[in-house]
Amino acid sequence: HSTLKTILVTGCAGFIGSNFVPYFLKKYPNYHIVNLDLLTYAGNLDNLSEIDEIVNNSALNTNHAPLQNDRYHFVKGDICDRKLVESIFNKYDIQGVIHFAAESHVDNSIKDPGVFIETNVKGTFTLIDVAYKYWMEKPFKYRDRYLNGMLNDECSVMNEKNDNSKFNTARSGNALGVQNLTLDETVPRFHHISTDEVYGTLGDTGLFTEETPYAPNSPYAASKASSDMIVRSYRETYGLNTVITNCSNNYGPKQHDEKLIPTIIRKALAGESIPIYGDGKNIRDWLYVLDHCKGIDLVYHTGREGNVYNIGGRNERTNLQIVDTICTILDEKVPPQNNPNFTISDPQSPISYKDLMVFVPDRAGHDRRYAIDATKIENELGWKANENFDSGIVKTINWYLEKYNRGLRL
Ligand code: NAD
Repeated sequence: HSTLKTILVTGCAGFIGSNFVPYFLKKYPNYHIVNLDLLTYAGNLDNLSEIDEIVNNSALNTNHAPLQNDRYHFVKGDICDRKLVESIFNKYDIQGVIHFAAESHVDNSIKDPGVFIETNVKGTFTLIDVAYKYWMEKPFKYRDRYLNGMLNDECSVMNEKNDNSKFNTARSGNALGVQNLTLDETVPRFHHISTDEVYGTLGDTGLFTEETPYAPNSPYAASKASSDMIVRSYRETYGLNTVITNCSNNYGPKQHDEKLIPTIIRKALAGESIPIYGDGKNIRDWLYVLDHCKGIDLVYHTGREGNVYNIGGRNERTNLQIVDTICTILDEKVPPQNNPNFTISDPQSPISYKDLMVFVPDRAGHDRRYAIDATKIENELGWKANENFDSGIVKTINWYLEKYNRGLRL
């Protein structure tokens, strides 16, 4: 792998990671990805079955993902397992981290918060601590940078002032008296993937910016907020090259069936009632998963060190609107009249999957509204969502229908 750059990407058997890896391997032929994933209930390696085709240009005739090929290695294990994480850094000489692995479902965190603290807080600590120590020990490049003591002082000043010119000087190594080193060659980056839920809830107006104070309300949000703070502290204390992205709700192919949109599609097609929390008027800001992946790619490669970027598609929808949109599309694509599972409607009334909606008691501590101000990533890095909700949801439904038509479980 001498010409390849090896990065550790955690949690790639999950929803976002399994969309990210194929995208990334296709776009960057010079990267080798090591995927560390525990394969919890949320991880499914079949989500990565296209990887062989991308790397080798030949598809295996199987739905199963490769465990390894020239540019991808899978390691099954826990991010909390320090010995294992250390051995991965040593074996593969890891040159960067993109950290997706997490417990991610709010409802589960209400029932059983412990594993959220374990994976999201302790797991993130273990990863970043191993990364820092491994990179710090490497001869010359990073050690000099850290030992120089420059980062604690200079970079926090740079951050405060948002001073790009100084940042660029530091990036090229001049601030250290080291000439002609580019960011890529010198300073491995730790990219932490986080959520807008750390900011708490909004009223009818306003948007989350990178400056919004943290106010997590669910154990999930609190565990993600804690992990963000650990990452921040490695920046401030040790000068580690970190970036954090806080993204709004994702949707798209490969999402676990426990989440809202897959649940709506699955229940509708099965002719089962579609549960809606509370009054259905909670608002989320929806982003198509590949737009998130593109944002991560941009921030990983061009985001400013130590910075936080919010990612969101400016697509606010109430849960009721989501159900309505999905049912309208399904009514057209799989008319309930032709669906053998759909027996509950009165033959007299207009038949729509919408008839399956039922209101159920609200989730405890249910945040009312999330919405992201993505100005920073748009203006600084030129990111823009390709899909709006109406286009992204059609792609998503088509993906689930393709599975449904092959008789697979949704
Ligand atoms: P997911 O639940 O679909 O996948 C999580 C993956 O992490 C799974 O493959 C699981 O096996 C793995 N994992 C869990 N615990 C692990 C451990 N201890 N060690 C190693 N691997 C472990 O989650 P997702 O929706 O893909 O989210 C990925 C990341 O993005 C998370 O950090 C999440 O907080 C964040 N995020 C998600 C959304 C969203 O809408 N899904 C939005 C913003 C941010």
